[in-house]
Amino acid sequence: VLAAGAVAALSEVAGDVQRAAGAAERLLELLDARPVIRAPDRPTPLPSPLLGAIGVEHVTFAYPSRRDTLALNDVTIRIRPGERIALVGPSGAGKSTLLQLLLRFYDPDHGRLCLDDVDLRDLDPAQLRSVIGMVAQEPVLFTGSAADNIRYGAPRASDDDVRAAARDANALGFIEALPNGFDSHLGPGGVQLSGGQRQRLAIARALLRNPRVLLLDEATSALDAESERLVQEALDRLMKGRTSLVVAHRLSTVVSADRLLVFDQGRLIGDGSHRELLETNALYRHLASLQFGTTASKDTGQEGKDP
Ligand code: ADP
Ligand code: MG
Repeated sequence: VLAAGAVAALSEVAGDVQRAAGAAERLLELLDARPVIRAPDRPTPLPSPLLGAIGVEHVTFAYPSRRDTLALNDVTIRIRPGERIALVGPSGAGKSTLLQLLLRFYDPDHGRLCLDDVDLRDLDPAQLRSVIGMVAQEPVLFTGSAADNIRYGAPRASDDDVRAAARDANALGFIEALPNGFDSHLGPGGVQLSGGQRQRLAIARALLRNPRVLLLDEATSALDAESERLVQEALDRLMKGRTSLVVAHRLSTVVSADRLLVFDQGRLIGDGSHRELLETNALYRHLASLQFGTTASKDTGQEGKDP
């Protein structure tokens, strides 16, 4: 069993947080390792049915190798069941760190994170991972067939379920067009998929696992317009009815979110809709003009109302 500490160390050495988080996720999945953050002797069972409310209460966290930088600084958030949240902010603001704490790759230094009012540290980590789904920025495909890749994490799913998940993820068309359809071998030595296809396969995998809470680190790499539309549709289906937190890089994501949370240097500095934040939050206005090309205001340096 690989200790979570080792995974964490690995991710620190690797430097690239996104890729490392994906790698850590994959290692944990491959080894079926229980994360070795102290698991409770007598875990609190999650409520059934699980609502999917998330509480982040005065959370402060610095990575073990970077004690001088607060990746999260006294962050408090309440997220209602089924709410669709977009996380925005400049690079290094703490967005991915929040997702990592929700998956319990790390525990906070101060404060606590809760799922349906249960402190994550009181849960069985395996149970936590089974109800929280993660779609990484650069989804990892396993060596195996397309069906194996979708079924990963839900090994008892029937062929019909796999097919339905592929259909809902807008992946059915391209999978059926592969030389051996669902039996086509993916990964090294097999079929190479495009970025958009890999994302849709990862979405199918998440759909099949049917998690109550969904964490999504949106890909920054641009897709062509058609792929973009197919991925967006698939994501909309995936997020429907689930509590979702999305590190947002697309205008469509922030516009359709129930609420945006703006992070800067580990602090939560904005909370509202895209429109509200364009009016009230100078950093958000600046980010939006850079990232999403929205030109609500040319003045990005000042707080206050625009004409
Ligand atoms: P974002 O996702 O908003 O770009 P991150 O959550 O990745 O930001 O990073 C927040 C802060 O934590 C940054 O200062 C970053 O350099 C640091 N950081 C992120 N991951 C690690 C890590 N694995 N080890 C050490 N420092 C990290
Ligand atoms: Mg990030």
